[in-house]
Amino acid sequence: MAGRGAGRFAPSPSGQLHLGNLRTAVVAWLFARSSGRAFLLRVEDLDRVRAGAEAEQLAELAALGILSDGPVVRQSRNAARYDQALGRLQAEGLVYECFCTRRDVAEAASAPHGRPGFYPGTCRGLGEDERERRREQRRPALRLAAGVGSWVIEDLLTGHVTAPVDDFVLRRNDGVIAYNLAVVVDDAAQGIDQVVRGDDLLESAPRQAYLASLLGLPAPTYAHVPLAVSPGGRRLAKRDGAVTLEDLARLGWSPEAVLGVILASLGLPGGSLAAALASFDPARLPRDPWVVDPAVLSAGPFSAPAGPACKPSAPTDKVLP
Ligand code: GLU
Repeated sequence: MAGRGAGRFAPSPSGQLHLGNLRTAVVAWLFARSSGRAFLLRVEDLDRVRAGAEAEQLAELAALGILSDGPVVRQSRNAARYDQALGRLQAEGLVYECFCTRRDVAEAASAPHGRPGFYPGTCRGLGEDERERRREQRRPALRLAAGVGSWVIEDLLTGHVTAPVDDFVLRRNDGVIAYNLAVVVDDAAQGIDQVVRGDDLLESAPRQAYLASLLGLPAPTYAHVPLAVSPGGRRLAKRDGAVTLEDLARLGWSPEAVLGVILASLGLPGGSLAAALASFDPARLPRDPWVVDPAVLSAGPFSAPAGPACKPSAPTDKVLP
């Protein structure tokens, strides 16, 4: 695998994958394969774990033909890597203890000069005596002492993306390593140089790329794919109806037929991943959310909706709030 790079799909094992998750996995596979990269699956099980979900998710992906080229990595086994990265940042004086509760953080963000979702560094300047006193009341989270206010990444679908970088959490106050640190460390350790995922994570990418730079790691190439939404425009969820392979199987949908719907939504020929790969062109991917109507799917596979028309569109620069 060395030398050719890798792409990946990294689900959190919190439940079955729905059509939107499966579509993102298909797009990640197509990006990796079409660029000569390996494709890896990683189970992000530091948080939000439901017993049995990992096996279900891997089986759902396999049913669509999506397999990992290497062993499936589980984040829960990577504690030593995360501690090492944290240690490196601590040695450089880039980590501090934060005693704020969720409520403190929310209040700071909604204060007159606060910014939603942006931690203003409340605990950065606490002296040792004060920290000592607070440790007795609350176990601290660890935050990055960020040296920038924003960072830019290049996204293959969105173009330049500038997003704020605050003193984000590296280790939560319950001791769990934060997603932003784990993802950066794991991508680098696994040789992943192409990150394709849902665009709900677009705003996190500049933070992650900045963190990679602090750890002396290369930032990957990014492509953030528009999410699947319900007809009402909300992010697709299981409560919207039959949107998992298991639900759809009960309505007569084979995994191949579901794959056909996903590929049609991407403007690609159905039939197989191999056929889709032959016509895959990132520049022609739809740039709008995919509207999934479970009521249409519930009528069964013979009324499979055609995918939306796909017009090529140029990436646009984006500055996130
Ligand atoms: N585990 C994350 C999720 O399921 C994805 C993380 C990533 O792709 O960077 O939402």
